[in-house]
Amino acid sequence: MRALICGAGIAGLTLAWHLERAGWQVEVVERAPALRDGGYMIDFYGPGYEVAERMGLTPRLLQARYPVSELSYVDRDGRQTSRLAMSASFDRVVSLLRADLVHAIHDDVRTPVTYGTSVAGIEQHDEGVTVELTDGTRREVDLLVGADGAHSRVRELAFGPEERFLRYLGHQVAAYVIDDKALSEQVGTRYRMLTVPGLMAGAYALRGDRLALLFLLREPDPTLTGDPATWLRRHYGDLGWILPEALARCPEPAEIYRDQVTQIDMEHWSTGRVVLLGDACQAVSLFAGHGASLAMAGAWVLADELAAAGADGVPDALAAYQRRVRPAVEEVQAFGRRFIRWMAPASRLRITARDWMLRLAALPGADRLFLNTLTSGGHGLIVSRAVDELRG
Ligand SMILES: Cc1cc2nc3c(=O)[nH]c(=O)nc-3n(C[C@H](O)[C@H](O)[C@H](O)COP(=O)(O)OP(=O)(O)OC[C@H]3O[C@@H](n4cnc5c(N)ncnc54)[C@H](O)[C@@H]3O)c2cc1C
Repeated sequence: MRALICGAGIAGLTLAWHLERAGWQVEVVERAPALRDGGYMIDFYGPGYEVAERMGLTPRLLQARYPVSELSYVDRDGRQTSRLAMSASFDRVVSLLRADLVHAIHDDVRTPVTYGTSVAGIEQHDEGVTVELTDGTRREVDLLVGADGAHSRVRELAFGPEERFLRYLGHQVAAYVIDDKALSEQVGTRYRMLTVPGLMAGAYALRGDRLALLFLLREPDPTLTGDPATWLRRHYGDLGWILPEALARCPEPAEIYRDQVTQIDMEHWSTGRVVLLGDACQAVSLFAGHGASLAMAGAWVLADELAAAGADGVPDALAAYQRRVRPAVEEVQAFGRRFIRWMAPASRLRITARDWMLRLAALPGADRLFLNTLTSGGHGLIVSRAVDELRG
């Protein structure tokens, strides 16, 4: 059986890992010229962590992890206004750069990855799919997988324009990494954030005197306009704290991650022998914080269903994969929408309320209670339910 996977991200590479071990002939095409580096910090846990453990990747992830000792909010002068100690919040949580997770999976995959290439056309027929690539070559495969992120090209070709499936969550996001010893030492191993109504800027020190920065802007218009550095300086340039120095070191546009904050909501994740995976069909957004985890879990379930199906059973396996994964995704998406008001508070009153809740959460044993209050249903509860559901 032959599969072509579009997108060498977390979902695509995890699926390649499992399919090649199940005896499939797999090829991955990736639009970027190389595996994407840098980017942003993620918290990795829950079902994805379970999958990584089964793949034997946890030693590598534990090596790449960053110790986040606390979340801490600061004011424009850099003074701490509230904090949440992280150690007792969750078990089996790894904070690392998205790129480090991608590299960890990639280094254990034998499947060839063709960079600088994407899918240009798709034609389904009785025996399989003819895929035309942007380099002008064609592939005949039994399965085409669109693991090419929230703005998936495969989804557009097989299901229609993005607007039909994209739920804009009213925010834009940017992130980049800089080399700066002084700023890195100043921030340290606390995830530090500054929030004013409608704006959030976060920073975390990385190994090698680097600093990861994340910016979130409340913006009703989803259009991404202008050069990212100018956009960042316009909105964050006079907020104080470390931001003037960090913005002065803003890298080239190609090294800045910038996007709308979105969820993807689709009734069907497959059509015939074309299936979507990861953010392409189930993006939950950074507000939910489970995207990488669910991308790996989805890949594992898809491989599991395909292993049980013969050559003729591929379409049924794709439907079964969606039935198993979608309930967890919907629950996490709903959680993400509830969390917006806390991660990027729209008013000064809500910022004050958040600071008070964090102070209360600092009382012994109150951190879990705090998170459950925030999420009505409980973040931890959702994670454990998703693990159970995905085990099938
Ligand atoms: C700021 C931020 C913070 C986040 N924090 C967390 C967190 O704490 N925890 C968590 O679990 N998740 C988090 N996420 C979400 C997580 O990063 C995503 O859900 C996850 O990366 C999805 O994996 P994926 O493989 O589906 O897509 P991606 O990681 O987006 O990978 C898609 C790949 O496809 C490639 N591609 C795109 N278009 C094409 C094309 N046309 N042709 C070929 N290739 C293409 C891309 O270059 C990329 O390599 C966060 C996201 C953001 C933006």
